[in-house]
Amino acid sequence: MTMLRAAARITLPDPVAVLRPLCEHLVEHEAEVSEADGVTTILFGDSRAELRTEPGSLSVVIEAPDLARLQGSKFAIASHAVEFAPEGAALTIRWSGDGAEPMLPPDFRVLTVTGVEQLTPRMRRIRFRGGELARYDSLEALHVRLFIPPAGLAEPVWPMIGADGLLQSPPAEQRPAIRKYTVREIDAAAGTLAIDFVLHDDAGPGSAFAARVQAGDRIGMAGPGGRGLKHAERYLFLADETGLPALARMLENLPMSATGLALVEIADAAERQPLAMPDGVSLRWLHRDGAAPGSTSLLTDALATLDWPAGEGSLYLWAACEHAAFREIRAAARQYLRPEIDAHLVVSYWRAGVSEEQHAAEKRKAA
Ligand SMILES: Cc1cc2nc3c(=O)[nH]c(=O)nc-3n(C[C@H](O)[C@H](O)[C@H](O)COP(=O)(O)OP(=O)(O)OC[C@H]3O[C@@H](n4cnc5c(N)ncnc54)[C@H](O)[C@@H]3O)c2cc1C
Repeated sequence: MTMLRAAARITLPDPVAVLRPLCEHLVEHEAEVSEADGVTTILFGDSRAELRTEPGSLSVVIEAPDLARLQGSKFAIASHAVEFAPEGAALTIRWSGDGAEPMLPPDFRVLTVTGVEQLTPRMRRIRFRGGELARYDSLEALHVRLFIPPAGLAEPVWPMIGADGLLQSPPAEQRPAIRKYTVREIDAAAGTLAIDFVLHDDAGPGSAFAARVQAGDRIGMAGPGGRGLKHAERYLFLADETGLPALARMLENLPMSATGLALVEIADAAERQPLAMPDGVSLRWLHRDGAAPGSTSLLTDALATLDWPAGEGSLYLWAACEHAAFREIRAAARQYLRPEIDAHLVVSYWRAGVSEEQHAAEKRKAA
């Protein structure tokens, strides 16, 4: 295998004091670290970094099988060198070798809108065209981060990997907002994909983009992420509208022998959409009928009246919904389900009254 190669000298007042916490941290993230003859070797899967401390600097050489993994390893070393350097330390990083020129992150794609379909009054399917979509065509990782440029910007400006290996954000007035969405349909060979957007009140950048979108508009996409569908004999799915695109994709990919139940909270009967699923899976729509999204306990009430997990065979619980319901479902899952890894995946997809940025800031503060 031909390996790509990059090297850097990171100038630091005390490189030994940075190397130690950097290695400890990367071990927590499943890197393998060893030390021999003054060389620290860090293995990130198929990529390998060799680090040497010298007076006033840390020298790094990385080899990786492709550009994505090379840039990922460069970022891991450079960003943690910055993180563990003393505050205010004069630190310079300049990479040479493969991938040294400023470039879009390797997992970043620019998508162009090709069409819009109003599925229901509050759900809009937007179709996109893009290049090299194969990595997004996976049931193991269904969601992506969308980079939505500010409205009215003539030419979108995307984040770039700089010569220091770190991600450079565009200036605030041009910076895209980042939101998580689910790949609802994809044809990687044709270079097309579709994403279903909820049109909600108090629209943030995601919902506002979906409401104003026109053919030819461009957004960025990075990922994919998340955990996908797990094999089980029985399934229990819970979702509100935001989880519905992922649920729909999983239902249509279940083996025909699968059995289970899907509980889906929506605004009202007009929000129902046809879903394909095996005969052994039943679907129950739960209508808010006038109540605000995120204000009801429809999902948790339905869950409380189920006589699960009685029955035969392994059970997989998947839930994606508003934060308050997520907390209750997660507590119920932990209380009743066997604690096997991946026996359940319960995720908060949004939080009532709080934007994505505010929610992330609160989580950082709590951590
Ligand atoms: C892994 C993952 C996958 C997701 N997939 C999808 C998807 O495929 N389709 C989809 O539509 N959403 C999806 N979401 C949810 C979506 O990311 C959030 O709803 C996001 O907050 C929307 O961004 P925004 O810019 O419209 O609103 P924000 O700027 O984040 O929030 C502005 C205001 O709108 C409120 N708000 C946000 N979402 C909703 C909503 N759905 N209903 C009512 N009020 C809301 C917030 O509470 C806040 O008050 C997903 C989330 C995750 C984590």
